[in-house]
Amino acid sequence: NPSAPRRSPAMPQPLRVNVPLNQGRDYDIRIGRGLLDEIGIEARDLGARAAGIVTDETVAGLYGERVQASLEAAGLRCGMITVPPGEASKSYAEFARVSDGLLSHKIERGDLVVALGGGVVGDLAGFAAASLRRGVRFVQAPTTLLAQVDSSVGGKTGINSPLGKNLIGAFHQPRLVLADTATLDTLSEREMRAGYAEVAKYGLIGDAEFFEWCETNWSGIFAGGPERDEAVAACCRAKAGVVVRDEREDGERALLNLGHTFGHALERLTGYDSARLVHGEGVAIGLALAFRFSARLGLCGGQDAGRVANHLALAGLPTRLQQVPGGVGDPDALLDAMAQDKKVRDGRLTFILAHGIGQSFIAPDIDRAEVRAFLEDELR
Ligand code: NAD
Ligand code: MG
Repeated sequence: NPSAPRRSPAMPQPLRVNVPLNQGRDYDIRIGRGLLDEIGIEARDLGARAAGIVTDETVAGLYGERVQASLEAAGLRCGMITVPPGEASKSYAEFARVSDGLLSHKIERGDLVVALGGGVVGDLAGFAAASLRRGVRFVQAPTTLLAQVDSSVGGKTGINSPLGKNLIGAFHQPRLVLADTATLDTLSEREMRAGYAEVAKYGLIGDAEFFEWCETNWSGIFAGGPERDEAVAACCRAKAGVVVRDEREDGERALLNLGHTFGHALERLTGYDSARLVHGEGVAIGLALAFRFSARLGLCGGQDAGRVANHLALAGLPTRLQQVPGGVGDPDALLDAMAQDKKVRDGRLTFILAHGIGQSFIAPDIDRAEVRAFLEDELR
């Protein structure tokens, strides 16, 4: 029928992923371009009368006004607390400043804390929300790829102690995650790539089909096409599933640490200096190492290890220890840095290894000497 209206390509609908936690704590993750402008309506629907926005200086300059305008247009009283950008803001000092800021803005039990920014802001604001008046509700508005696919979902909040990363914290689930994927347009290439390491990780952990999809569609994620929203949604679905089955990391949730035992060691050895290495770059090298180590132990095929490294490299990520600027020292330095990880028991190392792409598992009893020999070869 030639007179029938031609269907224009459908307007992309914002995607929605539910996190079905018990005891009335279930929440939605909404994913789509432009969602920041709906934060006011969402906050009003949650019954809040006031909102305390916590953000960093960079994100405040880019999106602060829009979020504030949306909340005020919905009739909420608004205050904003801004911290310096960077990991150093996950500190006792900034935690105190944010908490007192929220109190001075008269944020009460029925109100909302809004975490607007990357994982640093999400962890810090989430922890402030967990402690303020023994717990106020909070909304995650993640603005980095890493935060949209990982840190904003699952309820882990916290700050760093001088004695180590993420050592002070609480489980506190958000009431809503609003992932405006258009905010990633202003993210640096490097931060985008770093977040992409975590995207690929979900495929490698338990979804070979998703990894294959990534191999075909990764450039659309970077370019901000519909693939970006689809990828964020797929990752959130995967993370939500794990979190619902194992909220407190008694088991399966540890799989999310694929690539992280090596990755954390590299971050430690580079002094958490983001000029040298950001988390996602450490994870990318860690993912490649986890697969090569699995292959060496005869657990997975060498082609799979090659495929993982090739894909990460294609996306511009490092996959070898030699690519860490300034170097990482000798195998023993690396082993010592790994042994400081939370996942060490009685000198035996717990690794997340893989039987293949999408087939990761927890290997709780890996021999130190085996790891050492592997690292020696890797550093050769
Ligand atoms: P980040 O929050 O420091 O953000 C990275 C940089 O990007 C910052 O300089 C920030 O100002 C800037 N930025 C943020 N959004 C932007 C945008 N839209 N446009 C331009 N610039 C923007 O770092 P991150 O990688 O998002 O998060 C890392 C943190 O997340 C770490 O502290 C880590 O421990 C934590 N984390 C937590 C969990 C969890 O489950 N809670 C999981 C993974 C990581
Ligand atoms: Mg990570």
